[in-house]
Amino acid sequence: MTDLMSMTEPELMEFCVSLGEPAYRGKQLFGWLQKGIRSFDELKNLPASLREKLKANCLLCTCRAVRRQISTDGTRKYLFELYDGERIESVFMRYRHGNTVCVSTQAGCRMGCSFCASTVNGLKRSLCASEMLLQILEIQSDTGERVSNVVLMGMGEPLDNYENVMRFLRLVNDEKGLNIGYRHISLSTCGLIDKMDRLAGEGLPITLSVSLHAPNGDIRKSIMPVANRYGYEELLEACVRYEQKTKRRISFEYALISGVNDRPEHATELAERLKGTLCHVNLIPLNHTGRQGYKRSERDAVQAFAAALEKRGVTATVRRSLGNDISAACGQLKAEND
Ligand code: SAH
Repeated sequence: MTDLMSMTEPELMEFCVSLGEPAYRGKQLFGWLQKGIRSFDELKNLPASLREKLKANCLLCTCRAVRRQISTDGTRKYLFELYDGERIESVFMRYRHGNTVCVSTQAGCRMGCSFCASTVNGLKRSLCASEMLLQILEIQSDTGERVSNVVLMGMGEPLDNYENVMRFLRLVNDEKGLNIGYRHISLSTCGLIDKMDRLAGEGLPITLSVSLHAPNGDIRKSIMPVANRYGYEELLEACVRYEQKTKRRISFEYALISGVNDRPEHATELAERLKGTLCHVNLIPLNHTGRQGYKRSERDAVQAFAAALEKRGVTATVRRSLGNDISAACGQLKAEND
């Protein structure tokens, strides 16, 4: 079955022709689909005969909110159910620079980071492009507000679902669709080097975030299994290649875990490694998941870590944490419901 909402405008035009319809029907369809429809019957402007052909030949993905939590700071967390019963999470956040949705790219994850709730039951399946779009469309319709920024930082590893994520990026950027500029989109990866190199060649001016979380390979291996596949130095070299090719600054994510990667000597080592590279470090106080008995770093340790980086010329910010009262982080809502 063809997944209708994942198709680009030219693909829909071709598809309509293959069904014996005029190509302009594909253009019309694209405009309607990208605004979000929940059933074929909503396509009232189409001839009934074409609607029937679509019903017979196509799959219309759905993303149904089964739970929603609203934080005192306006952050909203959604638990969505997909057509096959798999569940994913998305988060809506209001920032000064615009409304942002944190999108999931997979149901579950197979990267195995020891501090992350999304990976506990492994990977269920990758999402198709329409299922990523629908998270935004459903949230826009629920809030009645336009979403202007997207971060691919929900469940899953975006570069482990490369083709569908690229398709999603092109669709979400389409001016006849959600029309969200690439500069308003961030993609976060745990560091799949071969895919980062491939992404650098796509020519999309999105922001790449790399989940580093450690000042060296040994600590990284102890919390992120992917570090056994790609070495620490190798990863930093790939980041430099990415920046040289795209002329875009990379953001490093660094979740501070008390006693694991937040000591003063860790900050010094990290600064030494990153010194002179075009980058920015986002320090994230660990969100509690109950895994491994990890605790978030004390406030003072977080400030000291940031200061130690800055002192050595590495820019760092401490991420403001939104939605703490509603467990709005990384697979927490799903874990609670399982
Ligand atoms: N697979 C992608 C996207 C994952 S989620 C990646 O690894 O980058 C986005 C960010 O949240 C990642 O940096 C991830 O490491 C981080 N994260 C996961 N669990 C966390 C937790 N409990 N506290 C803080 N950050 C966490």
